[in-house]
Amino acid sequence: MADIINLLPDNLANQIAAGEVIQRPASAVKELLENAVDAGATEIQLFIKDAGKELVQVIDNGSGMSDTDARMCFERHATSKIRSIDDLFHIRTMGFRGEALASIAAVSQVELKTRRAGDELGSFIEIDNSVIKRQEPCQAPFGTSIAMKNLFFNVPARRNFLKSNAAEMRHIVDEFIRVALAFPHLQFSLNSNGQQMFHLEKGSLKQRVVNILGQHYNAKLVTVRETTDYMNIHGFVGKPETAKKTRGDQFFFVNNRFIKSSYLNHAVMNAFSEMIPADSYPLYVLFIDLDPAHVDINVHPTKQEIKFDDERILYAFVQSAIKHALAQFSVTPALDFDLDPGIQQLDALTQPFTEQKKVQSANTSIYKTFTHANQAHVIDKSSNSNLQHWKELYGEPARPDNDHAPAPPETPLSTASVIDERWQEAATDHKVPVQVHQQYILSQIKSGFILIDQRAAHERILYERYQKALAEKPMATQQSLFPQTLELLPADALIVSEMLPDLQALGYDLEPFGQHTFVVRGTPADIQTGNEQASIEGLLEQFKHFSSELKLNRRERLVRSIARNNAIPPGKVLGSREMQNIIDELFACATPNVSPGGRFTFISFKLNDLEKMFERGM
Ligand code: ADP
Ligand code: MG
Repeated sequence: MADIINLLPDNLANQIAAGEVIQRPASAVKELLENAVDAGATEIQLFIKDAGKELVQVIDNGSGMSDTDARMCFERHATSKIRSIDDLFHIRTMGFRGEALASIAAVSQVELKTRRAGDELGSFIEIDNSVIKRQEPCQAPFGTSIAMKNLFFNVPARRNFLKSNAAEMRHIVDEFIRVALAFPHLQFSLNSNGQQMFHLEKGSLKQRVVNILGQHYNAKLVTVRETTDYMNIHGFVGKPETAKKTRGDQFFFVNNRFIKSSYLNHAVMNAFSEMIPADSYPLYVLFIDLDPAHVDINVHPTKQEIKFDDERILYAFVQSAIKHALAQFSVTPALDFDLDPGIQQLDALTQPFTEQKKVQSANTSIYKTFTHANQAHVIDKSSNSNLQHWKELYGEPARPDNDHAPAPPETPLSTASVIDERWQEAATDHKVPVQVHQQYILSQIKSGFILIDQRAAHERILYERYQKALAEKPMATQQSLFPQTLELLPADALIVSEMLPDLQALGYDLEPFGQHTFVVRGTPADIQTGNEQASIEGLLEQFKHFSSELKLNRRERLVRSIARNNAIPPGKVLGSREMQNIIDELFACATPNVSPGGRFTFISFKLNDLEKMFERGM
């Protein structure tokens, strides 16, 4: 019998291998744009015809190539970016496999024009199906132009698999945006069928984000930035109110490479939980940088999925960084309030990460945790600790040696009593809170003062109290002297009977009495007597309001309704003891910054910022 094994001819082997790298026009867009970036270009133009099926062309002003390199670059495994396996673990460029151009040349017709700045003449090369048809010297501006024409002209089966122009164009725009976001200091443009779709000037990341994702995000971005020995994160998240019903504006980059990671996405969503409705998606554009030795970018051919040494550290890091950013932004004078637009230009607001903040953040728990890579577990504990919120704002009573003292062991004292003790200690140092317009509480803190919205704060306090009542220990009921009957509309009666057990756990003593009627024998101890009926009707109103607004489960809706309904309204005069209680209890909450519905509970005014406002006469 004859031998049966053949060696595949080069172009066929290339075509098969190309399947991994070039699946659609957008794959070529990504590879060509990345090559231009790697070549040091500062201006990069992308031209598309027929959703890339007819033409994908990238023109750059980068390094250009020599005659020989211009021919070599189409060989499989031709790359100037790695020389040894070791390099693979320290790779800082976008490309590294030397497969992209070989793959593109195997499945299309390519024209390359390139010239180095020091050369008189450039080279022109034409390739079909991996075969060089023509190479000659030519006049050319410095830099490189690569045109990929008629993708899959020689692989009809794959050409037939391409989607509609609209779908392929969407993929192209996605890739373009990812590269453009990663390199805001480079100029990019995208032209499709002769029409300019994007023209992105060099600028800051913020400008790039806004130019791509929409001007309406301009005042709605929260800066994220944490720097540690192990890894850094920087970028933006959208303020909670910009969360959308559809996923989309969410980007993660690791060492400037766009990646997809449902795991890290989860970390972000977690940091936003409670601030946005459950089925909505916040914007984020986040860049994580860490030593390439901790990352394996080589696990997926198109390099969008990567492996990390220790995913859990990354998760905790991302989550904490975003929580930290959101908390900082809610204690920074918010840009949306009735402030003069001029104030928004203050350095402290437009460039929140000053040297002084760096020092501040170096003292936060997140920083300390991540300077020691193996201590990820420490962070959650301390950042969730209720004491932390209080301490960060009001500062600790001065204690010598505090910084060097070893971490205190778990004390048997409950957190609340620790806070109480500290509060007592500190109260003498601080001024008594002041009520403003019977609506806000002004309280002096270490770095300035905060203005607390009395209703939003109380809503947060009640919300967490009621959550606890449902999960752990039912609320105390105050029995009424004269039980009242409550006659409801049929639909409302149904809601009440469905929620009877939860209502009882929350301190409502209700009993069905005839068809649509209930007897109210008692209400939660913190509701004023005589108000039973109004209280239940009010909470029903709230409950129905929430059912149309939000996709929350019934219990959550109930708790939010009661909290909202029973919270101290604006217009209620508060004594200083009452105000102090609110402050105390607010900062003992797990999430003190926002009301259950995502409103700020307080904003803070820093001495620094105040000083600047006075200086500039604003
Ligand atoms: P890789 O990017 O992984 O090295 P490619 O096939 O994408 O592999 O490119 C092969 C080589 O061709 C690159 O290493 C680079 O030296 C050269 N090259 C590609 N595109 C350009 C460009 N736009 N400008 C200058 N050199 C380029
Ligand atoms: Mg490349």
